[in-house]
Amino acid sequence: MKNSGDYIIVETIIKIEGLSKSFVNKNTTVHALDNIDLDIYKGEIFGIIGLSGAGKSTLVRCINYLEIPTSGSVIYMGSNLSGMSVDKIRKTRQSMGMIFQQFNLLAQRNVLDNVCFPMEIAGVPKKNAEKRAIELLKLVGLEDRIKAYPAQLSGGQKQKVAIAGIIAMRPECIIFDEATAMLDPSGRQEVMNTIKRLNKEYNITVLHITHFMEEAVEADRVIVMEKGKLALEGSPREVFSNVARLKEIGLDVPYMTELAHLLKEDGLDIRDNI
Ligand code: ADP
Repeated sequence: MKNSGDYIIVETIIKIEGLSKSFVNKNTTVHALDNIDLDIYKGEIFGIIGLSGAGKSTLVRCINYLEIPTSGSVIYMGSNLSGMSVDKIRKTRQSMGMIFQQFNLLAQRNVLDNVCFPMEIAGVPKKNAEKRAIELLKLVGLEDRIKAYPAQLSGGQKQKVAIAGIIAMRPECIIFDEATAMLDPSGRQEVMNTIKRLNKEYNITVLHITHFMEEAVEADRVIVMEKGKLALEGSPREVFSNVARLKEIGLDVPYMTELAHLLKEDGLDIRDNI
């Protein structure tokens, strides 16, 4: 999403049409995704929430074709992934960075060398790679830790090193799959600030799977998944105004939403989308 003066240009980066994915194990079939239609816009922070097993990881793994959908299509930057050769899919996937819950750093390499590692593999000349890495480490606030080893960093710092390494590859979008789940509140805040900063400065599209509602509130749009289907979709304000539905799904609501809901139940005149 680009703000161009008086109007906002909305460009779809990922278009999902009738997407289904089933897993067959012995005699049982799990419908992990059931006929999902979705547009993700360029430059937005897109939050994905839902109970464990709702299909969140399968959705993002189908988006980058680590899982082949059972049916339906994923159109990424105008190209249908299902028609692509394995080689083209691999190249396309390189423009979708991924950050996981566990910190994917090499213990025997320092911070600078960890950020340079993906660029090294891609054949970026060492000097250019180091220059780009230092620039990104400044952006994530770790320029004074370039010689430190992963064991000397906090969880939040480790995750920021991983993020810098992915961003150095200049992806169009970045997928966070519960990337803050292992962090303490201050680490989570550090990572969230980094996500927002990268999104703003590089216009990178962010797909953020999280079970922390306070993080989902910071997205531009949010979906709630339930048993492989889209249960709710909209701005955080719209989604979190459905307190009864969210509770029925089994999800918490952000603290302020809960408070407003209770006050309303007590008779106070409070708007639903407070
Ligand atoms: P979430 O990310 O919301 O926790 P997942 O996408 O991991 O959910 O899983 C959705 C459903 O699909 C779950 O029932 C899970 O057990 C099942 N599932 C996911 N991956 C596989 C797999 N590789 N083989 C069999 N079942 C799977």
